[in-house]
Amino acid sequence: MTDSDNGQKTIEIDIQKDLFGANEDAAALNTDLFKAHGITVIDIMGSVGTGKTQLIESLCERMREKYRILMLAGDLETTIDADRVASHGIDTIQINTGTACHLDARMIKVALMDVDLSKYQVIFVENVGNLICPAGYPLGAAKKIVVVSITEGPYMVRKHPLTIKHADMIIINKIDLVDALEFDIDALERNIREVDAKLPVIRVSSKTGVGIDDLIGALEF
Ligand code: MG
Ligand code: ZN
Repeated sequence: MTDSDNGQKTIEIDIQKDLFGANEDAAALNTDLFKAHGITVIDIMGSVGTGKTQLIESLCERMREKYRILMLAGDLETTIDADRVASHGIDTIQINTGTACHLDARMIKVALMDVDLSKYQVIFVENVGNLICPAGYPLGAAKKIVVVSITEGPYMVRKHPLTIKHADMIIINKIDLVDALEFDIDALERNIREVDAKLPVIRVSSKTGVGIDDLIGALEF
């Protein structure tokens, strides 16, 4: 802010800094809240159609005996994904973002406002289907995982290196289709390693269940 002699003030707003800074502050508060309740929160990102919802369904099927789980579903419209997960007996909250192409930390806070968090040990957040901006908006989750699917073709890791860089783990999904698509899954994994050599990469089929137990282990449940 600068003051001039005639009493006028000029405020320079760095939209990038203010927007992301405010989100990061809200995310830190969410992290404190989750820690205070002993809840592990996993933020699941990926394009539309990568199988995020089916992956959550698979995880819930295997984990629900041991953990009390809440699922937050982020979508522009509809309750399709929340309904699918709810059909497994899991509590869900739908967050309809209207026009926003990602969830942000404040939306999570608002969604959980009236929730008795002492009821839950695990929260799966399905972010809005979009491989670009969700990575720039931390929600306060313990882990951010990115789901890529071999049906997206061979180039999406190379085209979205920033999203890979922000992730704590990459899931390569739909490996049951490797033969049918003649997909070079090792090449895809090499692309991930070129962005971050140490990033855990787990190959799964959320449809057949292959790799899901490895994923649960990698998430340290
Ligand atoms: Mg979905
Ligand atoms: Zn967005």
